[in-house]
Amino acid sequence: MNQIKIPDWKRAVIKVGSSLVAPDGKASSTKYTLAIANFIIQNHNLGREIILVSSGAVAAGLATQQNFKAKSNRSIPEKQALAAIGQPLLMQSWSRFFDFPCAQVLLTMDGLHNRERYVNAKNTINELLKLKTLPIVNENDTVAVEELKVGDNDNLAAHVAVLAEADLLIICTDIDGLYDDNPTKNKNAKLIPVVEIINDKIYSLAGGSNNPIATGGMRTKIEAAEKAVSGGINTIIMNGTKSKSFDSIMDGKVHGTLIKKLKTPVAAKKHWLMHTMINEGKVIIDEGAKNAIINKGASLLSTGIIAIEGTFTVGAAISVVFIDGKNEMIIAKGTTQYNSQDLSKIKGKKSGEIESILGYLTNKEVIDRSDMVLINNTNGVKNDK
Ligand code: GLU
Repeated sequence: MNQIKIPDWKRAVIKVGSSLVAPDGKASSTKYTLAIANFIIQNHNLGREIILVSSGAVAAGLATQQNFKAKSNRSIPEKQALAAIGQPLLMQSWSRFFDFPCAQVLLTMDGLHNRERYVNAKNTINELLKLKTLPIVNENDTVAVEELKVGDNDNLAAHVAVLAEADLLIICTDIDGLYDDNPTKNKNAKLIPVVEIINDKIYSLAGGSNNPIATGGMRTKIEAAEKAVSGGINTIIMNGTKSKSFDSIMDGKVHGTLIKKLKTPVAAKKHWLMHTMINEGKVIIDEGAKNAIINKGASLLSTGIIAIEGTFTVGAAISVVFIDGKNEMIIAKGTTQYNSQDLSKIKGKKSGEIESILGYLTNKEVIDRSDMVLINNTNGVKNDK
């Protein structure tokens, strides 16, 4: 394998999936976790900081229930109960490897959307690293509302990497990395050692998951990588079942796929807006507004808005959409200065008329350019500031 060098790093997030933590349904198996723990210890001793994002709570819970069979369409309360049973077992099975403390961090998407809670989680993780502990993160499956879940630990790990300002995200899975074709079907499929930019082609190479206890397939790994690299974090997808993958990283090399960080990462606030805030509605804009936003770095003004969808308050994240014939193009995402009710009154009107229509004027712009991220219609963010 052609080995690619990785730039020096100090703080990494390592994501370990259920297939490594609970191979063949055996919840506290050391088959793969031993090598992973060894890697964590070596780096810890070198003064590097590691945050572990570990799946396996549901799998560990499941292993205690003789009457439950592995299946993917389990009911939500069943999954939540299994996670509640399994999470302490998961912590226990990691803790036995280390002579420094492990700290359980359970996050929900809700906590990531809310800026105050986000900063709080960030401060806690920083403090845990200062205390030389190993933060072990999972989604708080027991309380998370299904529709508002991150849903898979690949994306959760990317959120954590950005939140913790890590300089490396390592996603461990049970295949060697991203291939140019499905390696289980095509014996000649080749591993892609480096990805410079994530585009539609890269997404098309990522299929779904065929492991019944794993949530993410290669697609969620690419989504996660996209979040991380746009936040300035190099991402490695590699085979966590092979100790060689970890040895390579200790030698500064990648045995897997390296997805390079963007040369000009998105500023933290815009990254959060793009990847973390929930979209609460949309505005449909005309062609003039579309051109001004895309080509002239303009803000969104009321005059360019044709229609509003959804009910949202001031400060909500909404998408800015242009309809080209039958195609909906999402142009941007941003936080609105007006609620949906007031926006319906001022849509299509000039900025100068806002005050007389609404009786107040907070801002001439509906979405200020500094509160907006452009979305390039292949995938992801276009960097403008
Ligand atoms: N949070 C889930 C668990 O610990 C796993 C989610 C995932 O693997 O993506 O069981």
